Amino acid sequence: MNTAHPDFDKLHHANPNERAIVIGSGFGGLAAAIRLAAKGYHVTLLEKLDALGGRGYTYRQDGFTFDGGPTIVTVPELFEELWALCGKTMSSDVDLRLMNPFYRIRFDDGRIFDYSNEKSENLRQIREYNPDDARGYERYLKASEARHKVGFDLLDKPFSTLAQLMRFAPDLVRLRGDQSVYTLVSKYIKNEQLRQAVSFHPLLIGGNPFTASSLYSLISHLEVTGGVWSAMGGTGRIVEAMGNLIKGQGTDIRVNTEVDQITTAGGKVTGVRLKSGEHIAANLVISNADSAWTYKHLLSETVKRKWTERRIDKAHYSNGLFVWYFGTKKQYPDIPHHSIILGPRYKSLLTDIFKHKKPTDDFSLYLHRPTATDPSMAPEGCDAFYALVPVPHLDSGTDWTTHAETFRKAVEERLEETGLPGLSENLATSLMLTPLDFQNRLNSVKGAGFSLEPRITQSAYFRPHNKSEEVDGLYLVGAGTHPGAGMPAVLSSAKVIDNLIPAVSHVS
Ligand SMILES: Cc1cc2nc3c(=O)[nH]c(=O)nc-3n(C[C@H](O)[C@H](O)[C@H](O)COP(=O)(O)OP(=O)(O)OC[C@H]3O[C@@H](n4cnc5c(N)ncnc54)[C@H](O)[C@@H]3O)c2cc1C
Repeated sequence: MNTAHPDFDKLHHANPNERAIVIGSGFGGLAAAIRLAAKGYHVTLLEKLDALGGRGYTYRQDGFTFDGGPTIVTVPELFEELWALCGKTMSSDVDLRLMNPFYRIRFDDGRIFDYSNEKSENLRQIREYNPDDARGYERYLKASEARHKVGFDLLDKPFSTLAQLMRFAPDLVRLRGDQSVYTLVSKYIKNEQLRQAVSFHPLLIGGNPFTASSLYSLISHLEVTGGVWSAMGGTGRIVEAMGNLIKGQGTDIRVNTEVDQITTAGGKVTGVRLKSGEHIAANLVISNADSAWTYKHLLSETVKRKWTERRIDKAHYSNGLFVWYFGTKKQYPDIPHHSIILGPRYKSLLTDIFKHKKPTDDFSLYLHRPTATDPSMAPEGCDAFYALVPVPHLDSGTDWTTHAETFRKAVEERLEETGLPGLSENLATSLMLTPLDFQNRLNSVKGAGFSLEPRITQSAYFRPHNKSEEVDGLYLVGAGTHPGAGMPAVLSSAKVIDNLIPAVSHVS
């Protein structure tokens, strides 16, 4: 059987020291491909799915366009750097718009907090909830800034050695990195609803505000200083534009191509074997597949020392996600681009999801309505939405093949009560993604929505390293390695490996 790809000869004749393979085209993989090609490597990008983007895949159905995952763009400079490496500017390819409000938070009693990009507007609303908390919020923002100063600097630095961790330890102690985001917020803000509005951010990256280190409160500073942005045409437009940058660099992109194994000899990477049986040789392999999946399924038992099956199984994984993409025949003009609809419980709901892995009847959700700013996402007169609900990962034992429709119906009812009346009669299209899809489609261990949970014992040095200690020539990018999940973090993980891998002129 001839399994060779048409580009096989080109690849085969390049010096293996100058070849790099990137497994997976999530934002981490795309950024790594751009950075390595800019360093002079002949890069091959291999993607299991039929299109690029990973969690940022675009679904199109019945004339509607749905961003599969990320919608909230922060720190656009990290994208702009990639364009600059290709001698281009991002704004020529992607139209980013500043959101105001950043998001609307709706509490269970129907009260609204529009989290604005104007501080004075936030302070005005805070005073309506509890006048004393206005001063507390300002003090909290200072605390968030202090954590940003320390934490953001570390995002693109490798944490491969204990010495690197020790350098950071005094700051960690000084800033009480052992405390949770919720504990930090509660120190400054007394009203429970405001505490929720200010502390939920770790959920955006798969963390529980009650266990995620207070260092993650840096996200608040990042939002108020850098803004919350959305791409016109959807986040998929960024993926498409990055794909074009990569093609322009001469990189081979192969979709519908799943890697079965990372091959090694004498403790060094020799390339990858595809599911088709084809072998592609390279001395440098960057895995953007989930780090736990990489160690569990892509490396042979004989080379695993640290990230053994047992350790991977014992790790804490982020929550799962139920995502319902739907289009409506009519528009709901009162719903902003980003909303968070909180349920009756906060701490105990999160404990059920993260700790007990207990399926619940009540939930909180994030509602995306891109048509609030971008009519191109739906046919004329219609709205495109997605509702994202944090749920336990697959250890809950939920059989999503049978439970998905029941759950979708519950989400639909909740949305009808909280701002989308008549939703069930106005549905034009519908599509669901459950933790089972995260496992089977995206190769995510336990169907986790965001890979390993961001807790202090699984961060920085304690997260799977960007440079693998198992085999020479293997590097990791993406949510499961340092610094973690979220677009800014996975783009930073590609910066980390850029700092670790020498330019081609130094390896040939
Ligand atoms: C619903 C949702 C909403 C989110 N919202 C936001 C947001 O608003 N803002 C934000 O910043 N972040 C958000 N995030 C988080 C963010 O999307 C992710 O952290 C980030 O996109 C993950 O990128 P990654 O580089 O880790 O790769 P992933 O997106 O996980 O992609 C990995 C890729 O590797 C491929 N792959 C796996 N195994 C193989 C193999 N063996 N062979 C070939 N290919 C393989 C997969 O098919 C996949 O395409 C959201 C995530 C989700 C799920």
